Amino acid sequence: MSLSQSIHHPEYLEKYMKLPSLNGEVQAEYVWIDGDGGLRCKTTTCEKASMNVEDYKEWNFDGSSTGQAEGHDSDVYLRPAAVFRDPFRGGDNVLVLAECYNSEGLPVKSNNRYSCKKAMDACADHKPWFGIEQEYTLFNNDGAPYGWPKGGFPGPQGPYYCGVGAGKVFARDAVEAHYRACLYAGVKISGINAEVMPSQWEFQVGPCLGIEMGDHLTMARFLLFRVCEEWGIKVSFHPKPLKGDWNGAGCHTNYSTELMRQEGGIKHIEEAIEKMAKRHMEHIAVYGDDNDLRLTGRHETGHIGTFSSGVANRGASIRIPRSVQHTKKGYFEDRRPASNIDPYQVTEIIVRTTLLNE
Ligand code: ADP
Ligand code: MN
Ligand code: MN
Ligand code: MN
Repeated sequence: MSLSQSIHHPEYLEKYMKLPSLNGEVQAEYVWIDGDGGLRCKTTTCEKASMNVEDYKEWNFDGSSTGQAEGHDSDVYLRPAAVFRDPFRGGDNVLVLAECYNSEGLPVKSNNRYSCKKAMDACADHKPWFGIEQEYTLFNNDGAPYGWPKGGFPGPQGPYYCGVGAGKVFARDAVEAHYRACLYAGVKISGINAEVMPSQWEFQVGPCLGIEMGDHLTMARFLLFRVCEEWGIKVSFHPKPLKGDWNGAGCHTNYSTELMRQEGGIKHIEEAIEKMAKRHMEHIAVYGDDNDLRLTGRHETGHIGTFSSGVANRGASIRIPRSVQHTKKGYFEDRRPASNIDPYQVTEIIVRTTLLNE
């Protein structure tokens, strides 16, 4: 089904968006991860504005419609975890990121934040920082990559990465809108760039402390879907959206602890990499579905079956940035995670392997 432009009338909506509420009520859009790792949202009215997560109620939804519960026991509970400003409604309206629990108070399938939070609390003294580079691909409603010539292909990869100019850049306006929406919301977005494959982009979130990484990346993804909804553009986080000589999409995960960031921290970086080498396949297991299609050892990746590391090496599993080798402190980059990861699972296994020795 093709998206009809007539279902979307921002020009009619505008005058309603300017209307104040009678008693200062605000709208809170609850956002959560569904049973397939997708995102869902619904809105409730709150009596007064607040940026404090404790001020938001536990709520619920029909989990049998989101792959998170059976029909006979379908209530799933939403426990607020983090609050952001709402760039779509503006004013004092908010986005509330929530965790999902069943009626017995246990985390439901795909609530990976629960155990991630436990791991982050256990290693809080190390002050783990993360920065994730989220790559993604934009598609037309007809299933072709956004802006590609009808029924054909653009020229081969080369001019698109950080490109500028007509024919080299696709959907810069929607990408810019997303960046601004993140800044408004309070998401710690640190940059964007056009990627190697045309119509593929990246945004970076971080550095974030511990559990904040999953929260901010999840909200950044929500904002991307929501902005692109207005443009009629579909967002794909598939790690190899197109077969052939087109780059896949990853979520490079940059990581450091306080010791790594201090003078001589390179020693701690090397120790962490040694620990990660020993648990390659356990990490790969949570580094995204279909990641074997991406980690082929080509297109700036290491092979899925082998662990490797190196300074400035974009064909390795883990890259130590050149500047880190120079200054002998800083962070390293795990290049294995795919674009469709759950960031809670990835950040959790990294601290479990490197700090909690599990
Ligand atoms: P690349 O050169 O691999 O494309 P980017 O500039 O796209 O790198 O992304 C770098 C990421 O590393 C950003 O998300 C940034 O927040 C993160 N980062 C920077 N310093 C640290 C640090 N000390 N610890 C963890 N992450 C960091
Ligand atoms: Mn990058
Ligand atoms: Mn990239
Ligand atoms: Mn990178």
